[in-house]
Amino acid sequence: MVQLSVVVPCFDESEVIDAFHTALLAALVPAHVSFEICYVDDGSSDRTVEHLRALAAADPRVRYTSFSRNFGKEAALLAGMRAAKGAAVVLMDADLQHPPELVPRMLELHRQGYDQVVAQRDRTGEGAVRKAFSRAYYRLVRRFMDVEIADGAGDFRLLSRRAVECLLALPESNRFSKGLFSWIGFDTVSFSYRNVQRAAGSSKWGGRRLLNYGIDGLLSFNTRPLRLAIHAGLWLFLSAVLYALWIVANAALDGVETPGYATLITAITALGGIQIAILGVIGEYVGRIYHEAKRRPHYVVRETDRSAAPVRRPER
Ligand code: UDP
Ligand code: MG
Repeated sequence: MVQLSVVVPCFDESEVIDAFHTALLAALVPAHVSFEICYVDDGSSDRTVEHLRALAAADPRVRYTSFSRNFGKEAALLAGMRAAKGAAVVLMDADLQHPPELVPRMLELHRQGYDQVVAQRDRTGEGAVRKAFSRAYYRLVRRFMDVEIADGAGDFRLLSRRAVECLLALPESNRFSKGLFSWIGFDTVSFSYRNVQRAAGSSKWGGRRLLNYGIDGLLSFNTRPLRLAIHAGLWLFLSAVLYALWIVANAALDGVETPGYATLITAITALGGIQIAILGVIGEYVGRIYHEAKRRPHYVVRETDRSAAPVRRPER
């Protein structure tokens, strides 16, 4: 059994993949561990897969899986973990934002008995707006989620074999890894490192994608937003009843005046807004149930290092 598998999701990374591979080898070879590198090409539209084919042909320690289209980083991580055979598995990005030279340190901590070793990045060099948003987001998450996730503690981590087996056993199709890592538990240790900019290529996380990722995170782990919606609805109903009583009392004492359209319209729009928001929350959960009920595979594999010929069935 190999001691270490490194899982690397790649989406349009042809510009950095070779540099990454060289840097990773430079970090792993002196560490005296037996290792394999499991690349996952997440349906790249550039020449990423050709680079992977070449790397795998040149080195038996390199393996790869290539998807039929872009299925997202979560799916790529899952495929990588399924392929990994190592006693420990490290998940890392291909863009050199996760410094390979930290891997030996993670292994060292793993040997001390930790099942999860997290390399936590700080936020140096990030825009002020993005920083502020992520701070606010993590505060929100801490309030609403049943699992603990720390700011900057992303996917760059080492997992023991049993932690990986636990993750693979989780059946949900809507995977929010940051939450799942925390949900499985086990002894976890983290250390922080200085944030680095992407070596080349561009980030695939625009504002919209980040917002959707954030919503996924909040909704993946509990139904508390639904509860919040019910509370808001109840309070609104109560205040509406009080308001109605007040109007009746007013009418009884002073007779009926011409009603104010402004207040009416305000009330209607406010209520309408709240109802739509609540419906949205409910819809999200129903959508999730629908999604899970279909039991579709997380991804479709086009080719792997073992079968350069196209494989037209989902890997189980
Ligand atoms: N990635 C992926 N599928 C996607 C988007 C990203 O496999 O749909 C990979 C990407 O190749 C990289 C890692 O996930 O190795 C992190 O992506 P990126 O650097 O774009 O994210 P950021 O560092 O900006 O959060
Ligand atoms: Mg990156």
